[in-house]
Amino acid sequence: MNDLMCFRHCSVDKSIFYLATRPISSSSVCPLCKRALRESHFIVPPFRIASPLTKNAVGIPHSLTIKPSSKSFVDYCHGDDLHVGVSDSRGRIHHYDEFGLHCDSNPETTFWTDCLLIQNKISQLTNIEECIQSDEWTQARYEPDTLNCYDFVVSVVNESEKSRVWTKENFCREILLPHTSRVGKFLLIFRRALNDILAVV
Ligand SMILES: [Zn+2]
Repeated sequence: MNDLMCFRHCSVDKSIFYLATRPISSSSVCPLCKRALRESHFIVPPFRIASPLTKNAVGIPHSLTIKPSSKSFVDYCHGDDLHVGVSDSRGRIHHYDEFGLHCDSNPETTFWTDCLLIQNKISQLTNIEECIQSDEWTQARYEPDTLNCYDFVVSVVNESEKSRVWTKENFCREILLPHTSRVGKFLLIFRRALNDILAVV
């Protein structure tokens, strides 16, 4: 997903956003005051806001990796399923689904693109394989609601971090939600900038 650009032109409380891949042209006008942007003063000149998503997560070690199960974050709607995995010291992503346990090590595999990465939770892990009881994470035992990709990741984190026992609920609230809400805010503006070219927020 591309970065956003942000500026303030004539209003101190309205920010204007556009995609970094669609720069302001010589004919662009401010959507608020309609003056030509090239010829006028900016209260805050354009600056870049980096996308919170990582272009390709394969190869990045010690991370939690999250993305929508069946589409990209651009098309993600509230309530759609998310898929989550965990990477080892070599950046291989281990994850669990209805087909069992997987280990993705090929960066050409396109599933783990434009992912949300959380990097400070599992730095202590040296060898994830030691934390994975592979007879527990089988295709036959998979349950969409009670034994899924998220149960797998919380189990690995609990194995790696002996000082605290995470439940699915407190892990979601304390670790995932701050990151997913930041992505949600970026997506909201990104989609407006996709449609409006210059989106006033
Ligand atoms: Zn203006």
